[in-house]
Amino acid sequence: MSEVVPTDEEVVHAARTRIENSESMPGISKLLIALREEHHWRLSEKRLKNLLTSAGLRKHTSQVKPWIPVSSVDEDVPLPDGVKAVYFDSIKGRGLVATKPFAQGQSVFVEDAFLAAPPPSQLPKLLSGELCAHCFLPTSGSSIALNCSAGGGCQARFCNRICHARAQSTHHPLLCPGTNPSCKSFLQHLEQYQWHSLHSVSRAIARLLLTASAHPPPSISVKTGATVHGVPTKEAPASFQETLHHLDAFATVSELERRARNPGWDIESKMFVPALKTAHELLVKALDPREKSRSRNFPIKAEKLPAADLDRIFAYDTFLSRSGVRMATRISAQALRSINPGEELMISYVDPKLPTDRRRLLLWRDYCFGPCACQRCTKEQPNFDSANFDASAASLLAANTQNIAPSEAQQESASLEHELRSSLGF
Ligand SMILES: [Zn+2]
Ligand SMILES: [Zn+2]
Ligand SMILES: [Zn+2]
Repeated sequence: MSEVVPTDEEVVHAARTRIENSESMPGISKLLIALREEHHWRLSEKRLKNLLTSAGLRKHTSQVKPWIPVSSVDEDVPLPDGVKAVYFDSIKGRGLVATKPFAQGQSVFVEDAFLAAPPPSQLPKLLSGELCAHCFLPTSGSSIALNCSAGGGCQARFCNRICHARAQSTHHPLLCPGTNPSCKSFLQHLEQYQWHSLHSVSRAIARLLLTASAHPPPSISVKTGATVHGVPTKEAPASFQETLHHLDAFATVSELERRARNPGWDIESKMFVPALKTAHELLVKALDPREKSRSRNFPIKAEKLPAADLDRIFAYDTFLSRSGVRMATRISAQALRSINPGEELMISYVDPKLPTDRRRLLLWRDYCFGPCACQRCTKEQPNFDSANFDASAASLLAANTQNIAPSEAQQESASLEHELRSSLGF
């Protein structure tokens, strides 16, 4: 039988099917051999790699399926009293477990986020100085608010000296049009698409790079002995490797994987994939210290950082795998019922009042897991056919849930459409 040259779609489809049906992600060479043999294709390794990358099927590490978020336990991060981090397995990832009893209503912890990005709709207010560029609270009420002094059209404001100092050491100098004019197009892109996870990614990279600046961020590592519950007692500076280690331990979610789960993906992908590529180019232009023609004020010298790590941080694959991670500023957890030592601490990722189909759809679409097999979902839908679970079927099910009238179902469907659009930023 003679060899045929497959189309891009054929390769991606066949590779995806093969990956879906295997326990762990096969290595490229194995996958290539299998595809060649099965279909009698003439296919080069380079072409397969490129196609897998652009389809979001390849990750920098991965021995696991690319749509499963990857996380690990970061032993360096101090945890609040009564809580420990546990790695369950490669599918579930890590989670928190109680080490002491918590009574119903008791506060389990309140923590400031290591990285934060404002809700996308608030971004224009942040860039115009209406909200503090560090803690996202309104600056208008503060008589001690400060302007960014870098000039260059930067309108950022901070509610007080503490927010200003924190911002200077963790993100602002690299995302300030004054000190770093090459971030302007990136900020415009961010504003145009109101893209929360992209903002989070840029702040993560900024925090990492600023460890090599004259005003590095504070360490949160337990190893330095300088923190109590994440609050630095002394301002021990964070090292590059320590910060990279924290970032690598974050759960990764690919924005591409997530968005491909939307029913309108055939159409959206035509706009979204180029927007994602542009976002990556602009991010590199804005932040990679090795880019030529850096302004005099650019706070980091590339020579101070390990080239191999910079390669990885700015690689498109890495960008993709982190592109879906979203951040909040402050996390506070309260026990809704009493919790015994050894019990896992769980939060609901979605509004628990939603119907089962809708919850499962949102978890699958926004968090890339499912169909949810928690006690409640399984009880409510014992006959759920997980083999046929897909986004369009699930969204139809959600829109046509039996306990809403037909006119309401239409509305539900329209609001779903609206929600999809706003989550896509188009
Ligand atoms: Zn503030
Ligand atoms: Zn500024
Ligand atoms: Zn569930």
